[in-house]
Amino acid sequence: MALIVQKYGGTSVASPKHIENVAKKVIAMRNQGHQMVVVVSAMSGETNRLLALAKEISPRPRPREVDVILATGEQVTIGLLAIALEAQGCPAQSYTGEQVRILTDSAYGKARILDIDAVRLRRDLSDGRVIVVAGFQGVDADGNITTLGRGGSDTTGVALAAALGADECQIYTDVDGVYTTDPRVVPQARRLDRVTYEEMLEMASLGAKVLQIRSVEFASKYSVPLRVLSSFEDGPGTLITSEDENMEQALISGIAFNRDEAKLTVLGVPDQPGVASRILGPVADANIEVDMIVQNVAEDATTDFTFTVHRNDYEKAFEILQRLAKGLGAREVVGDRKIVKVSLVGVGMRSHAGIASKMFRSLADEGINIRMISTSEIKISVVIDEKYLELGVRALHSAFGLDAA
Ligand code: ADP
Ligand code: ASP
Ligand code: MG
Repeated sequence: MALIVQKYGGTSVASPKHIENVAKKVIAMRNQGHQMVVVVSAMSGETNRLLALAKEISPRPRPREVDVILATGEQVTIGLLAIALEAQGCPAQSYTGEQVRILTDSAYGKARILDIDAVRLRRDLSDGRVIVVAGFQGVDADGNITTLGRGGSDTTGVALAAALGADECQIYTDVDGVYTTDPRVVPQARRLDRVTYEEMLEMASLGAKVLQIRSVEFASKYSVPLRVLSSFEDGPGTLITSEDENMEQALISGIAFNRDEAKLTVLGVPDQPGVASRILGPVADANIEVDMIVQNVAEDATTDFTFTVHRNDYEKAFEILQRLAKGLGAREVVGDRKIVKVSLVGVGMRSHAGIASKMFRSLADEGINIRMISTSEIKISVVIDEKYLELGVRALHSAFGLDAA
């Protein structure tokens, strides 16, 4: 007998019919003799709908209240799934994050899980019940409802699996595994049988939304075997696991992209010590996260300073830079929100030269201009114009031999 945690995403619980289908899958697994914990997301589109309601009243609603609203999405689906399970003859019990006591910090909208009280869940499990837990939500030490950031139900699933010492955490979604790139953008994308935590972490943080970054961090930290599977068709899915010496290491395991970034440049700043900190200090003080940074020095002893931020922070960052520009002696502040970041990821890259030049050549052959570059041991990222996203990703996918046969 194993203990399995399953997580079903929004499209998997999109309607009562879908939820009945989820109940069927859970029961089939339970009938094989396993103990089952099931985490569900809100019905697809629901979190966006709730967010829009709040924004209809205020453009910047208070984060605490937003979390109170958003957490209702998952509360509906846990109740519905528990009812569906019982209607099919399976004892079940639903829990909100607060009822389990998924303790988080108080960072509304992006809370981190600090602790999970597994006592009550263990008792239910030994009574033979299926436990249904609301994803994406928790409670802070003062009893405030918190949410874990978009896509956060994945993290609830993995964190529960870690807390209960589950044998596997299965993430059920609308694709049948992790692919070499988003199969909705590149139809030739290939499903991967296995991918390492390290690569998955990199893919997730570079924009592959199939798993929330923190869920992969948790899985890696607590060695939770994690599998991504389809709710709609049977198959082995993709296993996310530690690096195994016998694993044939592909040079490039995947291509991720991120449409959520925007680029800002301060032009013609006198090139003096402290410029970077005078620009980025106020940006950080405004709680804006900076991703890529490039600084070039021109012959006239001035420098152009470019960086990227989340698109939602673009306007705020632009205002800050305009305010700073005069004091810095800068010539101009310019920005571009129609950019995307495309990244090659692969642990095999570590031991190979020439990947970057091949990447740049492939993009050049398509007439795609590279605006920024950044590299690490296992990834190369470029910023290109948004309109070239599909073309660029497809060109790289085929240049690096990732297309399905
Ligand atoms: P859920 O609602 O089940 O959590 P998500 O929409 O969050 O589902 O994640 C699944 C989606 O992730 C897929 O529909 C796919 O478009 C996207 N995706 C992006 N990159 C990848 C990738 N490398 N492999 C598989 N899916 C990917
Ligand atoms: N419902 C939340 C969202 O849409 C959490 C999740 O689906 O994982 O982001
Ligand atoms: Mg998701």
